[in-house]
Amino acid sequence: MTTPAFTYAGSPARIVFGEGTLARVGDEVARLGGTRPIVLATAQQRAAGEALCAQIAGAGLFAEAAMHTPVEVTDRALGYVRERGGDCLVALGGGSTIGLGKAIAYRTDLAQLAVPTTYAGSEATSVLGQSEAGRKTTLRDPKVLPETIVYDVLLTLTLPRALSVTSALNAIAHAVEGLYAHDGNPVTSALAEQGIAALARALPTIAQRHDDRDARSDALFGAWACGTVLGSVAMGLHHKLCHVLGGSFGLPHAETHAVMLPHVVAFNAAAAPDAMARIARALGMPDPATGLANLARQLGAPTQLRALGLAQDAIDHAAELVVASPYRNPREFDRAAIRELLISAY
Ligand code: NAD
Repeated sequence: MTTPAFTYAGSPARIVFGEGTLARVGDEVARLGGTRPIVLATAQQRAAGEALCAQIAGAGLFAEAAMHTPVEVTDRALGYVRERGGDCLVALGGGSTIGLGKAIAYRTDLAQLAVPTTYAGSEATSVLGQSEAGRKTTLRDPKVLPETIVYDVLLTLTLPRALSVTSALNAIAHAVEGLYAHDGNPVTSALAEQGIAALARALPTIAQRHDDRDARSDALFGAWACGTVLGSVAMGLHHKLCHVLGGSFGLPHAETHAVMLPHVVAFNAAAAPDAMARIARALGMPDPATGLANLARQLGAPTQLRALGLAQDAIDHAAELVVASPYRNPREFDRAAIRELLISAY
């Protein structure tokens, strides 16, 4: 049997993809039964949130979403939802804004429509990360998975070049780890390979012309594919390292993914030959770790943890945290191996 036996649970989300699809959000809200939607955004994307509100009757705007989903912001948003009698949520933005929508849905079970404007992939997962008093915790619950995702390529034209690059490398990391996940399957592997190929093809163009629509649509499709992989199978050492570095040491999310990915791929290479062959094929380069490192360098992504503000004496503690509650990974590791890996990324 060349196709292995597998189990695959498809995401129930409805996906609307294209250019100008933002105009369809009102209809999609109605489809979810919403009459008083609450649009969520960050302060930086307030104008985009206002424009969306203006096109949906009865909509209200809460534009205070923040990185790592602080519980005090969620509490304020809940107050606003109650005061306005909000009956569904529309998260317009990146992982931070979508995180706020998930946090509200977790507490209210309101229906969610996500309109992603980065490539982070949170819209496709039932994982919610939250922070309170400087501590980050994550939970998994089907209630937090958005019911509808509207991808509008035009919204990504304003994503700054640097964030486009790091966010796309963040997406590629989901697919890479999906390819060697212990619960991976032919469906997620096909999506992962397509996702990496679409992003790797689009990125050099986006880095030169950030408003190239063809490249942007490839990248957004790739982000959907990679996000779907993230939402379907278990992530490994790379995501564990990034969660520790972001959650306990305050490193920026997408940049940390960009720095760590080539190092973890090199670390896992010998233990996951099939995944490596697929990554190489998707990148169109013979060696996946070198290919990813070259791609990051060519695109001007950060390449050192030191540059992201990690203190060198934090490395031992970080290695301890990774080993204390590890994620399943194709290659076994201990504290010394993680320490070495972090030093090479430093
Ligand atoms: P982000 O949402 O924090 O956005 C970064 C900044 O870019 C914000 O100021 C935002 O307003 C702005 N921005 C976003 N899109 C823009 C656009 N198109 N044009 C102009 N400005 C734009 O960044 P992110 O990397 O998407 O999200 C990171 C967060 O998402 C982290 O907290 C991470 O933990 C979380 N995340 C969660 C999951 C999950 O499955 N739960 C998955 C991936 C990421």
